[in-house]
Amino acid sequence: MSLLKDFLRQKAPKSGKEMPAYYRKALSNTAVSFCVYYLASFLLLGLTAGCWEWMPLVAAACMGLLLVGLKHIGPRLAGLCESLVIEIWCVWCIHNFGWSASTQQFLVTPLILAFFNVSELPWMKLWFWSSLVVLRLVLYAYSTHHPEVHVLGEQARLYFQILNTVFMFVMLAVLCILFSSSIQDTERQLRLSNEELHREAGTDPLTQLPNRRAMQNAIARTLKKSPDTPFSVAIADIDFFKKINDTYGHSCGDYTLKTLSAKFRELCGEDITVCRWGGEEFCFFMPGMNLDEAGAKMQDVSYAVRRMPLSFEGIDFSITITIGVSENDFRSPLEAILDEADRKLYMGKDSGRDKVVI
Ligand code: GH3
Ligand code: MG
Ligand code: MG
Repeated sequence: MSLLKDFLRQKAPKSGKEMPAYYRKALSNTAVSFCVYYLASFLLLGLTAGCWEWMPLVAAACMGLLLVGLKHIGPRLAGLCESLVIEIWCVWCIHNFGWSASTQQFLVTPLILAFFNVSELPWMKLWFWSSLVVLRLVLYAYSTHHPEVHVLGEQARLYFQILNTVFMFVMLAVLCILFSSSIQDTERQLRLSNEELHREAGTDPLTQLPNRRAMQNAIARTLKKSPDTPFSVAIADIDFFKKINDTYGHSCGDYTLKTLSAKFRELCGEDITVCRWGGEEFCFFMPGMNLDEAGAKMQDVSYAVRRMPLSFEGIDFSITITIGVSENDFRSPLEAILDEADRKLYMGKDSGRDKVVI
């Protein structure tokens, strides 16, 4: 029941000439396949039973026309026309060759086409479904009361049945391949765009470093995986950064942040994660490092930054940073460890800047 409710809740987009690529492919592939099948039926019925009827040729021509006109008519009309040709073919075959020719199985094709047509309303699909059920029942009743017009010989009937059955299975395979690969494609695209969105949400647009949220998630993930890992964190802040903005302009400040971030990335490698903590502050997460090791690493970083040449619009300058470092004591929460690093950073600022405080 809930399946039916969910189905009826589906909304069809505004109908128009815009048709999803997978549906256009399904319509054109079925049209081509039926065209070939009708021509094969024409030859088979003629050669094996001497029954050179014009109907298979008309049906093939209709499918050919539909194929040409597919670009110009909407998915609804195209699907309806294709279904109509298939249904007329079934009726004609049962009238002429009886139920045992097995053409009634083709009624499944319009059903599949209708249900995969996103432009169609759910209740229209159900209406279509019920009309096909009724048509099939009526055709069966008709075939039991009316003898076929052409009584095919045993061999001709067998060949016609084989052609119909093989073609039906080929048709089903074509539609299943088309629709399943379309679903897989859509899922893959969704996954990729989700990953991209997730990456963008966790990246600082100016420096392309992870932002504070991404860093906090990364630390939480590492600690969840191995809660007993020793680690240290450090917070670095550019000294007198406001002066750079005020003296050389905001663009020069941005340039400085970008160049410094690239330098940090180069110095940290794979093991240390660095992020833009906010403004001109950066945070380092150093798993597996105790306070001394992290302090030594930050000394290297501080030295490298001091020696880093900066040049913006012909002006050469340099910067220094102050860093506060703290380590995991396996008692305090992450926030407390970060607060400790922040407190040490301000101690460094108060005692003259360009320092690493451990
Ligand atoms: P201190 O040594 O005490 O850290 O001094 P400071 O000048 O570096 O610190 P302050 O907090 O006074 O100034 C930080 C400046 O950083 C102010 C703000 O305009 C600037 N800033 C923050 N984010 C950006 C940014 O994305 N681009 C630029 N150009 N400037 C930024
Ligand atoms: Mg600063
Ligand atoms: Mg600051």
